[in-house]
Amino acid sequence: MSIALRNTQRRMQVFNLRHDLYCEASGRCGCSEQTVTTLDENPMSGERRPRSVLRKVPAALTLLALETQEGLHEAVLKVPEIKRAVDGGALRVLTPTPRAQPKTTPTPDPKSKKDKERDTDK
Ligand SMILES: [Zn+2]
Repeated sequence: MSIALRNTQRRMQVFNLRHDLYCEASGRCGCSEQTVTTLDENPMSGERRPRSVLRKVPAALTLLALETQEGLHEAVLKVPEIKRAVDGGALRVLTPTPRAQPKTTPTPDPKSKKDKERDTDK
């Protein structure tokens, strides 16, 4: 399911979509891979040699001031920083409504009344 997030703040908010939280939950990896070169030191000889390591760089979710971004995977809510922002009101989760809502006039629920009457019959 995809959701939309609205930045309710008048400032930009950036969240890192950590691989172990976001990618695992969403089942797709949005990370980019970066090759970094490190120096490996042989503890025996003290010899140093460069080694290339592939490192995953997590994708970032950037929300400009008052921006709404749609089509986000609901797994973004697994990221603690995003969850905290939602709980604190800095972000609002908007679930898309595929169809226009039918009449929104509230109708009294006759069933609950009937249930109540039946209960008193006992
Ligand atoms: Zn990833």
